[in-house]
Amino acid sequence: MSTVKLRIKGGYGEHGRSCFLVEYGREGHCYMVDCGIMDTDPYPYPSVTREELEKVDYIFMTHCHKDHSGAFSYFVENGFSGILVASAMTLCLGKIQYQRTHILCESPFDPVCGGGDIELGELRAEYGRSGHCPGGLWFKITDETVRAFFSGDYQEDSLFYACDAVKNQEAELAVIDCAHNHINSPARELRENITVRVSRSLAEGRSVIFPVPQYGRGLELFYMLKQAFPQAAVCVDRGFADCAGEMLKETWWYREGPLRAMQHVLADTCAKAIIPGQKDERGYDILLLADTHLKKKENAIYVREAVLRGSDIMVTGRVKCKSPVEQLLEEGTAFRCHFPHHQSRTDMEKMINENRFHTILPFHNNERDIIVRA
Ligand SMILES: [Zn+2]
Ligand SMILES: [Zn+2]
Repeated sequence: MSTVKLRIKGGYGEHGRSCFLVEYGREGHCYMVDCGIMDTDPYPYPSVTREELEKVDYIFMTHCHKDHSGAFSYFVENGFSGILVASAMTLCLGKIQYQRTHILCESPFDPVCGGGDIELGELRAEYGRSGHCPGGLWFKITDETVRAFFSGDYQEDSLFYACDAVKNQEAELAVIDCAHNHINSPARELRENITVRVSRSLAEGRSVIFPVPQYGRGLELFYMLKQAFPQAAVCVDRGFADCAGEMLKETWWYREGPLRAMQHVLADTCAKAIIPGQKDERGYDILLLADTHLKKKENAIYVREAVLRGSDIMVTGRVKCKSPVEQLLEEGTAFRCHFPHHQSRTDMEKMINENRFHTILPFHNNERDIIVRA
């Protein structure tokens, strides 16, 4: 009988700090999937001891976001000396420098690469693009007897990011994204909600500002808004333009048609990027600002002034406690529409139905559900 021993160190029953430890093969040896932090906690790290870290042979890192990668340096300082397995893009965007890496897909410009599999000692890892952000991967890791699947943050119906859709996979254990566990809508519907809300603002003569993360849904939002509002002036800030430049160095992460359609529009928009706080004479209908929690003081002030001038603020992701974004929402000067960069409950159920997973842990939400399929 095959058994799998999983130790959950974070990300299950909470939105952040993703970290899963799996024992395999030789006595006491482990691999880890993700090493994230909870950026709202005074102690943000997963509770992993030095003894445990010394036994970790591999860390598989699904993507660069801090809730999946932010504890890496801390783990190295505290006993991890194994091999880091990730895409080159994840290492680049996560600004991770480490000697012992296994970089997946070393020829990212090769359009036929399309995921793959590798042998790592007693382990075999299959992987594919997760559709969540540049560099984002899912993993299926097999030891001598057991298969464990980890979706990472996942959305296969992305407009802009390429995804190697997870179908007909079989695994004893599956840890799968269900960050939007109270949402029962497919991605298309959520995107429509956003465009309906934006068109209302524009029709009423109000511009719309989207605070977005540096390396995530911003590019896809840009594409979606340019498609939906071809006549609107869509603008970005300098931070967004710099990040877009880094992300677009490798084309493997994007859907070919949308990328081709967008490349020169995006380059043109980025060349005219604004710097919040400096006088902006051109004006815009829609602004994408690469500061999702409005952490930078100048951005928070800029947005506050824009609200006074009649702009609408659109929040599309997680809201950090006590952030300026939370304050704007509480005052009713910002509004919220979910963007489908994660799986909804509907998406998760679809994934379960299209694969053969035995024990399923939906992660990245506040519940602690376990789904067992006979
Ligand atoms: Zn993420
Ligand atoms: Zn995440």
